[in-house]
Amino acid sequence: MSSQIIDGKQIAKSIRNHIRCQVKKLDFRPGLAVIQIGTDPASTIYVNHKQKDCEHVGFHSEVIRLPSNTSQKQVIDLVKQLNQSSQIHGILVQMPMPNHIDEQIVIDSILPQKDADGLGTINLGNLLIGQERVLPCTPGGILRLIEKTEVETEGKRVVCVGRSRLVGKPIGLLLLNRNATVTFCHSRTANLGSETSKADILVVAVGEPKFITEKMVKPEAIVIDVGINRVDNALIGDIDFETVSKVAGFITPVPGGVGPMTRAILLENTLKLATTLF
Ligand code: NAP
Repeated sequence: MSSQIIDGKQIAKSIRNHIRCQVKKLDFRPGLAVIQIGTDPASTIYVNHKQKDCEHVGFHSEVIRLPSNTSQKQVIDLVKQLNQSSQIHGILVQMPMPNHIDEQIVIDSILPQKDADGLGTINLGNLLIGQERVLPCTPGGILRLIEKTEVETEGKRVVCVGRSRLVGKPIGLLLLNRNATVTFCHSRTANLGSETSKADILVVAVGEPKFITEKMVKPEAIVIDVGINRVDNALIGDIDFETVSKVAGFITPVPGGVGPMTRAILLENTLKLATTLF
């Protein structure tokens, strides 16, 4: 028995094509501004991808690169300018930001109606109270991958391994809002394997290569691998794909699973912010 692969690359491509068609029907170009502080090589790659994606779907795109010693106030002043720009409908500040910057304060300086990453306190709070407006991109992408399986989430046991603000907590809330029974696991969880092996849907965002093995997975489960770990120049997920794919019902690959979906949802959020009155 082997699992069905959930092809994030293909699903993301169809989302991009759909957005491109939507943009052609508009009499203006939705605009996304991305701010990068510093020269972290992985961040530079992600920001370049975002710019390329914008060009592909016909968005106006602005990338602003700031030196790593830029002060928090200077970043916030720039965000405030972009908040006022009629050409910009979505703003994102690439993470991680340098240590002297409080990421949440910077993110919260983005107007909620321009918060393309959906990580501002207002948008995360909306998620908490079940009013989903702009979804955080990675959890939003994970949700779409799960939906593609056509497995009903209501009543299912979901286990999220990882409880970050970026991934674990919001995907758990999204699935709770869809009537799943959700358990959050983290570094202090006792007997992790006994929790994960009860999951009908297992979402893993830890950042440890091949952390989840076959014995920790319920047969036929949907397994979503969020992890991106660079090992010997290759990208490896948090799931031991080779063994887990023999027991899971559905599984996402790394690369080609959650990553492309994160990028696609950013475009979707920007289009939504540009065309919806909140
Ligand atoms: P994070 O903020 O470092 O959170 C990691 C989580 O894993 C924490 O909640 C931590 O628990 C938990 N954890 C650590 N060791 C554990 C253990 N031994 N047992 C159980 N839980 C453990 O990371 P993140 O931002 O959520 O990202 C996680 C991974 O996803 C990384 O590889 C990252 O690169 C990747 N990622 C991918 C995408 C994408 O688009 N594909 C997007 C975002 C992140 P505590 O809370 O107790 O510390």
